[in-house]
Amino acid sequence: MINSPKMGVLMLRISHNDVEKILWHAAVCYPAECCGILAGRKLGEEYVVERVYPARNMLESSFEYRVNPEDQVRIFMDAEADGLEVVGFYHSHPLGEAYWSSLDEERSKLWPGYIFLVVSHKTGSLRAYLRKEDETVEVNVEISTFTL
Ligand SMILES: [Zn+2]
Repeated sequence: MINSPKMGVLMLRISHNDVEKILWHAAVCYPAECCGILAGRKLGEEYVVERVYPARNMLESSFEYRVNPEDQVRIFMDAEADGLEVVGFYHSHPLGEAYWSSLDEERSKLWPGYIFLVVSHKTGSLRAYLRKEDETVEVNVEISTFTL
């Protein structure tokens, strides 16, 4: 089932290189969903991704993911050690479009305040959502060519 959260005012800024990296990860994991973690910083209403960390999907499923807990701990520590903040998670939809599924809605409830970036392996499109305490809003995505 597809949810359609309303578009908010927030912006997710991610570099073209990092998008390529996520799409590459989606291709490598196909036909399973890939997943990973986005680190960077929050500047007002803007989330800036400065580093993409691929992680293992412990479910190895085409329809859902769960970030391997060891990877998660290692990545959170690595990001913190480099002065970055974990701003969210990404995962792929191997067979479908980039949309916010009922499962995404359900699973994200554990992570209020985090961004969820969904990419479609099929079309290469991507959409981002901010999980809030009691709702989810869509976030504008700006892909930039800047290098950090
Ligand atoms: Zn999903």
